[in-house]
Amino acid sequence: MARQEAPVSPPVVLTIAGSDSGGGAGIQADLKTIEAGGAFGTSAITSVTAQNTRGVHGSHLLPIEDIEAQIDAVFDDFDVAAVKTGMLATEDVIETVRGYADRLPNLVVDPVMVAASGDRLLEPDAEDAYEALIAESTLVTPNADEAAVLTGIDPENEGEAREVGQRLVEMGADAALVKGGHIPVPEVTDVLVTDEDVTTIRHPRVDTDSTHGSGCTLSSAVATRLSHGDNLAAAVESGVDLLSRAIRYNLDVGEGAGAVHHTV
Ligand code: PLP
Repeated sequence: MARQEAPVSPPVVLTIAGSDSGGGAGIQADLKTIEAGGAFGTSAITSVTAQNTRGVHGSHLLPIEDIEAQIDAVFDDFDVAAVKTGMLATEDVIETVRGYADRLPNLVVDPVMVAASGDRLLEPDAEDAYEALIAESTLVTPNADEAAVLTGIDPENEGEAREVGQRLVEMGADAALVKGGHIPVPEVTDVLVTDEDVTTIRHPRVDTDSTHGSGCTLSSAVATRLSHGDNLAAAVESGVDLLSRAIRYNLDVGEGAGAVHHTV
């Protein structure tokens, strides 16, 4: 009989997010990214979406007590090293997650509002609730549209992105990564703002529509690096780098827009 090797103890990452039956975004993208990054992925599903690469067909919110039961089960058993949030769907869910704030280490908040297909993933009027959760975060990762909703500033250039980041840090986030991918210029500029400094990360735009799952993949990759003990700047740099590859080597799956490659 073969002897058992010494067990490996990867850091544990929890994703609190929505399920994407199409596998490109949401919990599915998170778990693939977390595992590819050498951590152990656990999950609390907030909402079950019926979707594919063409769009969202339906969405079913889980009762709050079922969301809490999943988070409690994970915390009862695992030493969680990092947490990311994705689709939280409603004000109630955002407030519920905020209630766990003291127990959420290395919290990366991806303030998901709308899918790349244009379908809403957050109830109208739930945006304000995000402020209290952002105040508890290690990092918040809005794209330009989410940044505009959260701060009232539409970041069309680097100076405005910096201003958005500063507002989010004033709200209480340790740091904000304002993503520039939604701004149609040949070179993408992401801006990382902390209360100490501002770092600009530039990378060439990849000419593709297959960006489904990009926000999920980036925030999961950063949470995974934080779970391994990287400092914030290193974790963000590594996450942005991974996402550039994930988009460059995107996956031609389904009849619609395809998906980013979570495990490059
Ligand atoms: N979460 C779920 C369940 C989704 O379906 C989507 C997009 O469709 C997202 C999050 C956000 O996706 P992205 O990573 O493309 O921003």
